[in-house]
Amino acid sequence: MSKSIPEIYGCNVFNDKIMRNKLPKDIYKALKKTIENGTHLELDVANAVAVAMKEWAVENGATHFTHWFQPMTGFTAEKHDSFITPVGSGQVIMDFSGKMLVKGEPDASSFPSGGLRATFEARGYTAWDPTSPAFIKDKTLYIPTAFCSYSGEALDKKTPLLRSMEALSREATRILHLLGNSKVTGVSTTVGPEQEYFLVKRDLYEKRKDLVFTGRTLLGALPPKGQELEDHYFGALKPEIASFMHDLDEELWKLGIPAKTKHNEVAPAQHELAPVFDTTNVAVDHNMLTMEIMKKVAKKHGLTCLLHEKPFAGINGSGKHNNWSMVTNTGDNLLEPGKSPEENIQFLILLTAVIKAVDDYADLMRLSVATAGNDHRLGANEAPPAIISMFLGEELNAIMESIENDTLFEHHDKIQMETGAAVLPHFFKDNTDRNRTSPFAFTGNKFEFRSLGSSLSVAGPNVVLNTAVAESLRQFYEELHGSVTGESSPEQIREKVMELLKKTIKAHKRVIFNGDGYTDEWIEEAERRGLENMKSTPDVLPSFIRPKNIKLFTSHGIFTESEIMSRYEILTEAYVKTIFIEVKTLISMLSHDFLPALNSYAMSLAGSLSIKQGLLGSGSYAEKEQLEKVTEDYNSIYEKLKGLEEALASAEKIDESLKQAAFCHDVLLKKMDEIRMTADPAEARLPKEMLPYPTYEELLFTI
Ligand code: ADP
Ligand code: MG
Repeated sequence: MSKSIPEIYGCNVFNDKIMRNKLPKDIYKALKKTIENGTHLELDVANAVAVAMKEWAVENGATHFTHWFQPMTGFTAEKHDSFITPVGSGQVIMDFSGKMLVKGEPDASSFPSGGLRATFEARGYTAWDPTSPAFIKDKTLYIPTAFCSYSGEALDKKTPLLRSMEALSREATRILHLLGNSKVTGVSTTVGPEQEYFLVKRDLYEKRKDLVFTGRTLLGALPPKGQELEDHYFGALKPEIASFMHDLDEELWKLGIPAKTKHNEVAPAQHELAPVFDTTNVAVDHNMLTMEIMKKVAKKHGLTCLLHEKPFAGINGSGKHNNWSMVTNTGDNLLEPGKSPEENIQFLILLTAVIKAVDDYADLMRLSVATAGNDHRLGANEAPPAIISMFLGEELNAIMESIENDTLFEHHDKIQMETGAAVLPHFFKDNTDRNRTSPFAFTGNKFEFRSLGSSLSVAGPNVVLNTAVAESLRQFYEELHGSVTGESSPEQIREKVMELLKKTIKAHKRVIFNGDGYTDEWIEEAERRGLENMKSTPDVLPSFIRPKNIKLFTSHGIFTESEIMSRYEILTEAYVKTIFIEVKTLISMLSHDFLPALNSYAMSLAGSLSIKQGLLGSGSYAEKEQLEKVTEDYNSIYEKLKGLEEALASAEKIDESLKQAAFCHDVLLKKMDEIRMTADPAEARLPKEMLPYPTYEELLFTI
């Protein structure tokens, strides 16, 4: 008999229940304190936790442990060590200590460091993140860790994330205390990432070099039917897909990942999964695991899961919606519009802090979602535009306007903002649908950052959100703390806060846009408002190192200046490498597969033409026309291929990486597109048996 879901859920996680059972009471308490309040963990506690963890892991079949970390590759990394320790006379014991739990020393020389660490300084450290639970996968105990260099510089995505969560907690708590909410001792951010993906048959996938090497198709004619009927969205799940999703849910549940919603997406063969939200660093770890397990489960089902942002030209790509909010340690969602006026003040100040943050650091938000893959989506009328703006909805917007114009109370009464939250969910629900086009939308009690690409780690965007909001709150505190004290009456506080909000809204309302982000009018309007429209990754990369952004990160202790420079370098190089791989793959496909296929077709046409002409004289005009067309395509693609090879050679010679990235975008990508303009229609004309690889039609419509 199969187990119930509550029995399965988290069965492979060293979770709270197991900790309480296995740990001595004082140790459990000390660990909980670290997890909940971020206090430092002593070695004796770590030792006791290690013993319990190993015992539990071994009981559950684990033979190895690994420090699991998130280097700048964008993937996760792991190196497994077995628990065995020889104790003489051919015997071993299963050993694991606090030291082994807390710290690891992987040879880090082959991970991207952007110049932070020379290869001869190979030492890197992994440090246990006790706030994200350890788990067992494939007979190995996985310990979530942060990864840094010998001199303490972050080499991963988790370290800055944890730093940014601390910064936000610090600043938000200070503001709440100032407002008289003294019960709160910490604020964490919460994230629920909605994940889009494609599923294609594995045997077809394996026959396409472009999918295997780059994750997206570099050639391919559109099928007669695409997504125009929108019949796939929320459509009934096919049995193969339902069975995949079922297994996926179960695997995720075992790991304590609260997979909640699943459905078909807009494009054929596209689907979505959303978990219930969690604390940000746990949500990040879970999303990394989710992507990995999606691939693994797909394989078991004879499928391949495509996480690339744009696997198929002409068909919607995949994104990831980062739902984000802030919650106090007393359990209040700070973006929930409250019932009582004091809570509304709290809500309004936090909401305004977010508005200011988005306006001040729109460039960093844009940067945080910039990758070669995502460039195909942003601004292409299937995903938010590249211009960062935010959506508040009609009524919240009216409240902001009334604060700005000193008409708060009147307006407040009219829409009953103060009498209760009951009206708000109703309102926000009505409005979410109309504003699919906003990059950053308020959706009732959270913001939804919609510009992320499907394969992206959600760490980066949340580092930016947390830090930018922390900075708004820091500035608010600086302005308020002189005039508002613990002794101030609620009216006095309200007055001072309203003054500040008014000024802030005036200064930052340009970033609020409640209309259709897909229109040309918005692009012009945004330009008039002075909002940046950075269309491609090379456009946005330099904004990372703008002085105001370096100041933001360094002043909150998120990145040192050298960490920023290294990340800037890593991002730029990653972009260049991605495009180079795409170009090389396209060259290989054209040379080995596509041009030979065209040539075979030409030869068969020529053969049939000459035979028919021998028999019938000059009457066989169809083959002649076809042959001419194929030859023209062949010559044209051949010429463009030569051009692409030459351009790649020039690109490789450029020694400044940002220039190289710009060249990749302006020259190489353009040349690749030009090849498609001839090759895709030529593919559509090939006889079926001569097609060099599975077509879009087969990939998208055969499950
Ligand atoms: P929609 O489908 O309209 O986008 P949902 O209510 O389905 O909205 O939520 C989408 C995601 O937002 C889910 O992952 C959900 O858990 C997450 N979410 C809900 N509340 C919060 C919150 N306070 N903080 C972060 N994420 C949240
Ligand atoms: Mg959503």
